[in-house]
Amino acid sequence: MPLFDFSKDPRANVKGIRRRVLKMIMEASKSTLPNEFAAMMKSNDKGVIHELMLLPGTEAGESSAIFKLHMLPIDFSVVGTVHSHPSDSSRPSGADLDLFRRYGWLHIITHYPFDMDCWSCYDGRGEPHHLEVLD
Ligand code: ZN
Repeated sequence: MPLFDFSKDPRANVKGIRRRVLKMIMEASKSTLPNEFAAMMKSNDKGVIHELMLLPGTEAGESSAIFKLHMLPIDFSVVGTVHSHPSDSSRPSGADLDLFRRYGWLHIITHYPFDMDCWSCYDGRGEPHHLEVLD
């Protein structure tokens, strides 16, 4: 028996994101240009991402947003990260994949011009993960 059965962990079964949260992400991605926007995503117990959490000490840079993971409060509703790409591609970089492997369950990358469909969601292995947009 595995030490932790993550299949029963609601964080491993996130299926959706609230439309207003996605909108907030796009607005923030736009207003942070030309830098990257980065935040943590929180899910409720129904597996829906419903809140963002800004991480103190996150450095937004033109090439990469750096998460200071040691600054993270112990908060078990955090499911993963979201960050923006000022380019027109939401493909994860090598550094992104490294972050995905080390932290969280799900990650969103947005890309320019940050319309409501300018994003992709990935799991910890960098594989695409389907996320429903819910009202
Ligand atoms: Zn990236």
